[in-house]
Amino acid sequence: MVGVRSSRFYIAPHVDVEDFILQSAQRGSQRQQLDCQEIKTAGESRGEQNGKRGAARRRTDVVLVVGHVVRASAGVEHGQRLEAHRCIADMICGACERNLPEGAYSGEQRGRRQSIRRCEECVAGGNQLVLMKKGRTRSEEDECPICNLPLPPTVADSQQSVFRVCCMTTVCSGCDLAAAKRGMDDCPFCRTPPPADGSQCLAMIQKRVDAGDPRAIFNLANSYDCGRYGLEKDATRAVELFELAAELGVKEAHYNLGCTYDEGTVVEKDIARAIRHWEAAAMSGHVAARFNLGGKEYKAGNYDLALQHWLISAKLGHEVSLNNIKHMFVKGLATKADYAGALRGYQSATEEMSSPDRNEAKTRWVRK
Ligand SMILES: [Zn+2]
Ligand SMILES: [Zn+2]
Ligand SMILES: [Zn+2]
Repeated sequence: MVGVRSSRFYIAPHVDVEDFILQSAQRGSQRQQLDCQEIKTAGESRGEQNGKRGAARRRTDVVLVVGHVVRASAGVEHGQRLEAHRCIADMICGACERNLPEGAYSGEQRGRRQSIRRCEECVAGGNQLVLMKKGRTRSEEDECPICNLPLPPTVADSQQSVFRVCCMTTVCSGCDLAAAKRGMDDCPFCRTPPPADGSQCLAMIQKRVDAGDPRAIFNLANSYDCGRYGLEKDATRAVELFELAAELGVKEAHYNLGCTYDEGTVVEKDIARAIRHWEAAAMSGHVAARFNLGGKEYKAGNYDLALQHWLISAKLGHEVSLNNIKHMFVKGLATKADYAGALRGYQSATEEMSSPDRNEAKTRWVRK
């Protein structure tokens, strides 16, 4: 497992250090001194995971909490102990990402978490949150590897694509149908004959898990989650594997973890953590995660943020997001231009995802 675990604290690479610290402060952490080794090592593993971003994080200050946030200089040595002093907390702006004193924020913004907080300058200048700037387009991994068209955006549309364990790829139903019409039974992408049964499927997945394939780890997690391929259902093992896949950058794993922490049935309910996972997924272009974030903001009464999220997911081809924007327009919470833009974006995303083969596959599904 990547990341650092200790009896004192654990910062997974996808967790925002500042948020983590603020939360431990809220939990009443009163530690006066903290061995810095773990924090620095956490920074290093973030560096390995996230490349440049992690390296930047490593250069930035190490943050500790003793009721208030304390910053130590960047060159903290392993094992060095830091004295924690009470001081006024600096806050990172979610738009310009500068580290600014509390006074640079309005009272309303100060109470927000980092990802949706903007300094007064950014509010005045209309500077968008990083959360809203990233993940606005589908990535290459969301494409069918055969026709190179984007795959349907959510799992709800899963009957429009076929997942293959041989090569861990998702082939669109159009290409799958075209292969079937040519009498091809093998995987249309890698030509491997289909596995005979669940145990063969599992063996294929395990082989790729052993090779460290993040998508295979995600798939094994799913298999434990649903009790697939003859595996006994094991929610705890599933969460562990989802965490690992998420750390390795699988956005679907972040999404699933978000749902798991939001539901709080197999783990302790933790909305803040759920949101962090959905944000990580959404910033990588995960449509359902983006949609869920919109829902959370809507419920919290942050209509402007809800609208921004749903505009992104609607333009990625998510129909329910489009309907929600329409609903917001009717209630006077969105402008006509917002809705018109969402509709245009939704239509062009839908067009981009359709092909004659896919359309034919769809009518076959409807007939069944
Ligand atoms: Zn700012
Ligand atoms: Zn295809
Ligand atoms: Zn294959």
